[in-house]
Amino acid sequence: MLAEIEARIEAEAERVGRDPVGVRLIAVSKVQPNDRVAAVLEQGHRLFGENRVQEAAGKWPEFRSRFEDIEVDLIGPLQTNKARQAMELFDAIHTIDRSKLAKTIARLAQEIGACPDLYIQVNTGREDQKAGIAPEDVDGFVAECVAMDLPVRGLMCIPPAEEEPSLHFALLAKMAGRNELTGLSMGMSGDFECAIAQGATHVRVGSAIFGDRVPAAT
Ligand SMILES: *Cc1c(COP(=O)(O)O)cnc(C)c1O
Repeated sequence: MLAEIEARIEAEAERVGRDPVGVRLIAVSKVQPNDRVAAVLEQGHRLFGENRVQEAAGKWPEFRSRFEDIEVDLIGPLQTNKARQAMELFDAIHTIDRSKLAKTIARLAQEIGACPDLYIQVNTGREDQKAGIAPEDVDGFVAECVAMDLPVRGLMCIPPAEEEPSLHFALLAKMAGRNELTGLSMGMSGDFECAIAQGATHVRVGSAIFGDRVPAAT
């Protein structure tokens, strides 16, 4: 269903007067069986998202050897002790959510001599169970990251499930704008069109492309 999602992205971008090229589709392949991922690669798609370092480490080196120009982004929480592995594995990290992690990445970037593109996760709904910088702390945190020379490309959010997502997307766009950040990682299977209308540059779509996630065997 990759083609259908691509068509819907294009249609929504055109409806709101945006160039569809400005909206990148991250195919979220977490927990999906390898044959479904291979099928999407064979259709020519090259940008994927994973939410766990370990799972990505077990899956992507093999795909990268079979297909050229693959990009894989981390869209799930990152522990400081996995930062080095994540920096070596991923092209972008969308979940920078605390000072300690930013400092660790800055130090490792010096050591490694390279750094993935970074997005700061914002807890727009101020949910206790959700990661992310509180909205009122975003400007200060962006400044802190920029002062460390980190390649901050934009902001990311996951709106509360029961709330109107467009308000959260609009808030994220406003915060990015006043911090001169151009990247907006927002929108999932259920709300990516709404995110595009609010300016998303990266939508993270999983189940609408691959089908329902197959639960891991226990
Ligand atoms: C799983 C996940 C997605 C994709 O969710 P779908 O509803 O399957 O599209 C997007 N973003 C994040 C952060 C995720 O963890």
